Amino acid sequence: MKKDQALEALTQSLGSDSVVSADNIPSQYNTDRTSNRSGYCDMLIIPSSAEEVAKALSICNRFLIPVTPRGAGTGVTGGAIPVCGGAVLSLEKLNRIIEIDEENLIATVEPCVTTGALQKLVLAKGLFYPPDPASLEECSIGGNVAESAGGMRAVKYGTTKDYLLGCEFVTPEGKIMQTGGKFVKNATGYNMAGILVGSEGTLAVITKLIMRLIPAPTEMRDILFSFPDLESAAKAVHCITRSRVVPTAIEFMEADAVRFVAKHHQIGIPFPDAGAQLLVQIDGTASAELDSQEKAIIQAVGSNATDHIIAINDDDRTRLWSARRGIRTAIEKESPVFLAEDCVVPRAAIPLFVTEVKGFLTSQGLRSVIFGHAGDGNVHIDALRDALSDEEWDQIVPVLRKGIYQIAFRHEGTISGEHGIGCVRRDYMDLAFSSDELDLMRRIKTAFDPNGILNPGKVI
Ligand SMILES: Cc1cc2nc3c(=O)[nH]c(=O)nc-3n(C[C@H](O)[C@H](O)[C@H](O)COP(=O)(O)OP(=O)(O)OC[C@H]3O[C@@H](n4cnc5c(N)ncnc54)[C@H](O)[C@@H]3O)c2cc1C
Repeated sequence: MKKDQALEALTQSLGSDSVVSADNIPSQYNTDRTSNRSGYCDMLIIPSSAEEVAKALSICNRFLIPVTPRGAGTGVTGGAIPVCGGAVLSLEKLNRIIEIDEENLIATVEPCVTTGALQKLVLAKGLFYPPDPASLEECSIGGNVAESAGGMRAVKYGTTKDYLLGCEFVTPEGKIMQTGGKFVKNATGYNMAGILVGSEGTLAVITKLIMRLIPAPTEMRDILFSFPDLESAAKAVHCITRSRVVPTAIEFMEADAVRFVAKHHQIGIPFPDAGAQLLVQIDGTASAELDSQEKAIIQAVGSNATDHIIAINDDDRTRLWSARRGIRTAIEKESPVFLAEDCVVPRAAIPLFVTEVKGFLTSQGLRSVIFGHAGDGNVHIDALRDALSDEEWDQIVPVLRKGIYQIAFRHEGTISGEHGIGCVRRDYMDLAFSSDELDLMRRIKTAFDPNGILNPGKVI
């Protein structure tokens, strides 16, 4: 009854083109890219402006309808999956790049602008938007902010949160608010934009973003190193860090990651039999500068590596990076159901952490693939279900998560470096935070969302 009334009020307020009832909702709105998870929603709302978002939220709040905000639906922890029914609020029509302000080096965008599209547009003007999640051709800037997304270039350039200067957002009660602006410094009150980073659609719906840009590097070079084993690769990362060159990215792939990409993508990856690979990217504005960085890195890696190749042109670079970017889809092909974790640990702890996690998963009888961002300590751990039954898998997943997180905590790390908590990791937050810390987070949630309508069942 309440649902019918809400649907009628939404249709009257936004028009029938913007509101879809349960029977006509395409199935993708009940999922994201989380392995083996889906939900159910009673209505889909597709607003065209912040004002329409405000109207929709105000109606849902009045009728106490749960609302799940949705960007591009590429999340991997179930943030955009409607787990409590109600409405999915898709931001897909808010997809305009409003302004590229070249004088102030700032981009103002609507939330569903694709990360890759913004990067390409600003690059054509000699500017750079560095955050580069591997999903950049599909994911949205709003989703990146809501998930505190990272990427390969975090080592040198930081992550999405480092580029957010301000935003417009709509509270669950339907009030449109602003925070920050087109300025780089801001010491005026609480950092509300900072609170929204990583809030996974549980506090407010972001309707406009003001993002910092930087001048684009003009030169780039990639070096792929092959190692006999993961330990030698880990030693090499340590040596690169000590060389005081700050690469743009240092990505590692252990043997299974390399093998799966070689098997499932016909891209002819170099060193397919390597025990481990490191892909190092450097950039700058002069080739002499890159020459000296390249020399320092090759020297630092030294005899830890068995071989290396350097990509200078775009074709070479695409080939090397498509291997790294293709790991997730290769795993999906190898075992459609898998557990994907993305713990973060201090960089120096990576070798021990990886060895212990791999050992733990093997002791549970599972194949696993470990890869990730060696330069910033963010380790991707994918455990494959293979032939386990649904029942066996459901039983083992909580054991695996708890075991992996405990190893991360032991190494002074935490649950997620970039993929967030969503619905799949929510039950483990009490391993990472004290009850007082969780209580403070709940009070922040209540301040934004007194009726608890926004993305229930996520984060806390
Ligand atoms: C192949 C692949 C590779 C990936 N690689 C990376 C990677 O390298 N680094 C990384 O960080 N992530 C990666 N991801 C995960 C994912 O792409 C990111 O989490 C991304 O930021 C999600 O953006 P989205 O637009 O798809 O958001 P969605 O999945 O639609 O939503 C994610 C969360 O944000 C909320 N949300 C979305 N838009 C808004 C908004 N406007 N206002 C308020 N809340 C909102 C949703 O409610 C949900 O909780 C990868 C995913 C895939 C499938």
